[in-house]
Amino acid sequence: MANEAGVYSYSAVQMGSPVLLKLFENNAALAQQVFRLIAQQENLFTVNRVQSEVMAINHAAGERPVAVSPAVFNLIQVAHTVSTLPDSAFNFAIGPIVKRWKIGFQGNSVPAAADITALLPLTNPHQVVLDAAAQSVYLLQRGMEIDLGAIAKGYIADRVQQWLRQQGVTQALINLGGNVQTLGAPPHEPQGWQIGLKKPFADDNALLGVIEVREKSVVTSGIYERYFEQQGRCWHHIFDPRTGYPLDNELLSVTVISDRSLDGDIYTTLLYGMGTEQGLNWLASQSDIDAIFVTRDRQIVCSSPRHYRFRPADTTWKLHY
Ligand code: ADP
Ligand code: MG
Repeated sequence: MANEAGVYSYSAVQMGSPVLLKLFENNAALAQQVFRLIAQQENLFTVNRVQSEVMAINHAAGERPVAVSPAVFNLIQVAHTVSTLPDSAFNFAIGPIVKRWKIGFQGNSVPAAADITALLPLTNPHQVVLDAAAQSVYLLQRGMEIDLGAIAKGYIADRVQQWLRQQGVTQALINLGGNVQTLGAPPHEPQGWQIGLKKPFADDNALLGVIEVREKSVVTSGIYERYFEQQGRCWHHIFDPRTGYPLDNELLSVTVISDRSLDGDIYTTLLYGMGTEQGLNWLASQSDIDAIFVTRDRQIVCSSPRHYRFRPADTTWKLHY
């Protein structure tokens, strides 16, 4: 815990990521409750342990439906809807591919093409059957696995925001390993929270710029977070559901500014799949979502900034609106 200008910061490592909570009161007990809430939620959704509600569904693949708690069922329902949109880059049935590559978990070699080809038929989101009356989820084929890794942090960040609000907190920030969710703005900083946009493949403190928001979520998904290098290429952890290989386009990262961090998580993945040009076109029709695209040729492309301000910090990158 550190105290600079009335800010109290509390940190932990959860869900394999650093978690940071900023409050404007000295309240370690409140912070502990937040970390406990995150741990409880992680216990429901993780696929990186043998047991969780989601793992119970995966263990029963090809055998039977599994009834789950309302929170898990609801999040799976959202994931199913997004995964079955036409041309969606999001697929929550991608588990077998994620497990095969093991990126972020000691994975360091490109799998044999035949392995990928064999696994792709086990990633069809239409073969996940939801029964709302029974609150159950059934993976039709043995070997299927759902993976909520792309959205669990966003969902949990929203839960933390909601819980803090219920406790009467009006100004706070939670950073769940790249998912930032905020309440209000810091005292004496009416322009809002200052959230750094990291420079890809540079050290942690190097920034491309600062995003200013009030009462918004800021989510960044980048290929430089979890990856390995082989054959001069960077193999990262956001997969193209059509090919089973990491999404390969001009992007290094996509940041989404939205009210809900769950939406931020969903749209970072969808926009990643769309790429900059199609993504910007699509954003023009969305009044409640903004995004910042960072490309391999050192450009920072901002959608029309309705809900944030961007202050560049590195002028060697070209900035576009
Ligand atoms: P991070 O965990 O670094 O914040 P993301 O939010 O971008 O990353 O989510 C990446 C995770 O989502 C992967 O580790 C994997 O579990 C899962 N995933 C990978 N590709 C897809 C995809 N196309 N659709 C849905 N989930 C995916
Ligand atoms: Mg995400």
